[in-house]
Amino acid sequence: MRDDSGWLSMQSPKPTRHILSLSGGKDSTALAIYLRDRVPEMEYVFMDTGEELPETYEYIEKLEAYLGKPIVRLNPERPFHHWLLVYRGVLPDPRNRWCTRKLKIEPFERYVGDDLCYNYVGIRSDEAQRKGYISTKPNIIPRYPFVDDGVTKEDVLRILEESGLGLPEYYRWRSRSGCYFCFFQQKIEWIGLHESHPRLFEKAAGFEKYDPVTGARFTWSEGEPLSALLDDERRREIRHNAAKRTALHKTARTKLWDIFADEDDQEGCLVCHL
Ligand code: SF4
Repeated sequence: MRDDSGWLSMQSPKPTRHILSLSGGKDSTALAIYLRDRVPEMEYVFMDTGEELPETYEYIEKLEAYLGKPIVRLNPERPFHHWLLVYRGVLPDPRNRWCTRKLKIEPFERYVGDDLCYNYVGIRSDEAQRKGYISTKPNIIPRYPFVDDGVTKEDVLRILEESGLGLPEYYRWRSRSGCYFCFFQQKIEWIGLHESHPRLFEKAAGFEKYDPVTGARFTWSEGEPLSALLDDERRREIRHNAAKRTALHKTARTKLWDIFADEDDQEGCLVCHL
C-alpha cells in the first residue's frame, strides 16, 4: 500500500481498515459496486441520521443484498431534534452545517476510532475539482478511485444499470440523497416531498421557527417558510419556473434524472450527497 500520509510510516499494531461510507446516493453506491471484488476486505457504512427518506433506506437494503455483506448503520449519539435545541433552534444551512458534523462525521469518526483507515469517496473524474470535508483526523485517509480511474457520470449510471440497482427512487422528484429536510433542496423538490411524503414535509415544517420578539425567522428554504410553498399561486409559480429549467435541459436531454444529476454535481455536501 502506498505510503502517502506520513501516518502510514508509523508502526501500527492493527491492520489498515478500508471503509466506504454510503450516503444512499448514486455515486457512493456505484463506488461500492465498483470496488466489491477489488477490495474484498471493505467495510461498508451508512451514516443514518434517523432523518433519511424511506427510499434511501430501501436502496441501502437492496445494495446490501447485492454486496452480500452487511452495511453497518452508524447513528448519531443524539437525534437531530436534540442538536437543534443545543443550537437554540437555528436550523443548519449551507454556511452552518452543524448537522453534517453532528449527524454524520462524528459518528463516522467514532466508528473508526484511532485505527488507520482508507476512506473511499465517490467523487468522479468529471468533478475532480469538487472539494468537501470528509474528516480531518490524520488516521482517516481519503481515497478517490473514480478520479484515479477516470470514471465519469456516464460510467456511474452504467454501473448502476448493469448491477440491476438503477437509481434510487427519490430521483423521480429530488436531486440528492440526504435528510428529507435537507436545506440544499430546491423549492420544486420541497413540493415533491410534500406530494411523496406529506408527513415528512409537515415534520420538516415543524422545525421552522419564528421569534416574534427578535423577528428572527429560521426556515429551511430561503426567504419563506415551507407553508408558503403550498399556497396555490406560489406552487404554480414554482412549477412554472422548474418546467422552464426542464425545457432548457430537454433541448439536449430527455430524462429527468439527467437534469437532477447535473444539479447534484454542483453544490451540496460530500458526506451526504454522493
Ligand atoms: S443531508 Fe443535508 S440536512 Fe442532512 S446532514 Fe447532510 S447537509 Fe445536513
